Amino acid sequence: MSPQKLLLLSGDGIGPEVMAEVERLIAWMNARKLGTFETEQALVGGACHDAHRVAVTEETMAKAHDADAVLFGAVGGSKWDGVPYEVRPEAALLRLRKDLGLFANLRPAICYPALAEASSLKRDLVDGLDIVIVRELTGGVYFGEPKTIVDLGNGQKRAVDTQVYDTFEIERIARVAFELARKRRNKVTSMEKRNVMKSGVLWNEVVSAVHAREFPDVTLEHQLADAGGMQLVRRPKQFDVIVTDNLFGDMLSDVAAMLTGSLGMLPSASLGELDARTGKRKALYEPVHGSAPDIAGKGLANPIAMLASFAMALRYSFGMVREADLVEQAIAATLERGLRTADLAAAGTPAAATTEMGEAVIKEMGRLAG
Ligand code: NAD
Repeated sequence: MSPQKLLLLSGDGIGPEVMAEVERLIAWMNARKLGTFETEQALVGGACHDAHRVAVTEETMAKAHDADAVLFGAVGGSKWDGVPYEVRPEAALLRLRKDLGLFANLRPAICYPALAEASSLKRDLVDGLDIVIVRELTGGVYFGEPKTIVDLGNGQKRAVDTQVYDTFEIERIARVAFELARKRRNKVTSMEKRNVMKSGVLWNEVVSAVHAREFPDVTLEHQLADAGGMQLVRRPKQFDVIVTDNLFGDMLSDVAAMLTGSLGMLPSASLGELDARTGKRKALYEPVHGSAPDIAGKGLANPIAMLASFAMALRYSFGMVREADLVEQAIAATLERGLRTADLAAAGTPAAATTEMGEAVIKEMGRLAG
């Protein structure tokens, strides 16, 4: 097996703390011959700004292009509030997404049985929940032109954002969703607003065509995005894979996040186009949470979102399905045993440190792997 090349960009705040637990896991897997990972580190975000006055250097961008996958911690913090807009910490993430062509954002919402009480919904609605939202990430209303505010000269202003999608953009995101569903419970729900938006009409038409042509074995249903949002909090377990555009995906994935309890639990993947020659895609994996300046440097951060992001890298970049399952099962088993970082612990109960949680997950992996 050729080595798996990973670029680790830990960033700011709790980023380096949670990334350290992934490094611990990688070292353990290498030692156990469960992988042949080669890692490189680079500065990103505020840390990179401090050293180089940019959010990400050209050298790091070249490394990101060269890597099989990028693992990203988190960036940002009030220290960099005053830096110029183009070099603010978050600019690094946008540059990586754009230059690597990461058009598909996968956000799983998994509710571990041990944490069902932490959800804002009743236990029976979320216990065992396992869905994925596939959000289109590089098109739609966040990027469409014109995008402007014009002064109408009569004391009024007019703001314009443009929702625009071409056929190829919808086709490629639909394919990601259908392929993913085939490896899961074989169902895709596509969400748009075809009743009031032309982009919704085209979205519906193209998803249906890709389904009929390439994925007739997968169950496809369509829901209007507003009704879908309601169903997500009413009966979330009806879904397997949800595919939707950039704007609706932004909102629906945050709603789905709250079904699962803490921000410290949620991983994500951003994938690029499949290279027909190599069979590989550019990919970046990151926790959904930010740099959490309020708890940074205190050893309080929950590393599970970062560890689960690494599990997604195993699954989607390296085809290491068994190993990905092992990481996820070890996380579930660790929670089952009652270990909780401060974000998960009930008031007045003891909380585990970041390192303690990381070590416990590895210990469970060892036990499960035998
Ligand atoms: P945040 O996600 O950093 O924190 C929100 C709350 O959740 C905080 O109370 C924090 O302590 C808690 N939290 C987050 N992750 C946790 C974890 N792993 N374990 C335990 N608790 C956790 O969001 P914020 O406070 O709005 O933003 C802080 C900074 O992060 C800002 O500069 C923001 O721009 C940046 N940010 C970066 C990213 C990214 O790098 N992708 C994403 C979101 C926010």
